Amino acid sequence: MEKFNIVMLGAPGSGKGTQAKILAEKFNLAHISTGDLFRKQIASGNALGQEAKSYIDRGALCPDSLTINMLHDFLTRLPDVKGHIFDGVPRTVQQAQMLDGIGYPTVLPLHLVINLDVNPDEIMRRLVKRAEIEDRSDDTPAIIEKRIENYFAQTKPLENYYEEKGILRQVNGMGSVEDIFEEVSSIISAEMK
Ligand code: ADP
Repeated sequence: MEKFNIVMLGAPGSGKGTQAKILAEKFNLAHISTGDLFRKQIASGNALGQEAKSYIDRGALCPDSLTINMLHDFLTRLPDVKGHIFDGVPRTVQQAQMLDGIGYPTVLPLHLVINLDVNPDEIMRRLVKRAEIEDRSDDTPAIIEKRIENYFAQTKPLENYYEEKGILRQVNGMGSVEDIFEEVSSIISAEMK
């Protein structure tokens, strides 16, 4: 059976990680966060982690091929799953093209892209609040601003990319975790069947 692959799209702080986690449990899919994968590589102190850290700590995106290679490598080592919920990947049009097999040897077919729409003031507010709790090295105010800037310049154009493919669904990300979960769940249920 072909795997069902969902992408959660949205700004840092849009709640895509929170939703991806609970949706993965509900639909029995593997939750894959490239931010988490990078942080694991960094913690293990290997060369990939060291390279990734040099980008992450200044709020930059990691290089596209580094990211997509790490992702495919991780997927080949996953036990058999029904599908995946990707959180934080793709993050650039070039990454989306690589997943589509454009200029890349492997195709990763996507079936549904959910965009959590949250306004910029709320994003900043949430990330500053999260920084107080999580103590991440990339959560200082200047770096947060850089990440938001990168999101608008590099990731937001993906909405168009997937809109044109007819697999984008827009969800208002300003509601409660429960309400958003209900809305996204019904979208997934309708598509997954
Ligand atoms: P957030 O959702 O708050 O931006 P993440 O944990 O998803 O945080 O990612 C943290 C950092 O990891 C990003 O700022 C970026 O440097 C790097 N990263 C994660 N995913 C990608 C990706 N797909 N492409 C490039 N860099 C990535």
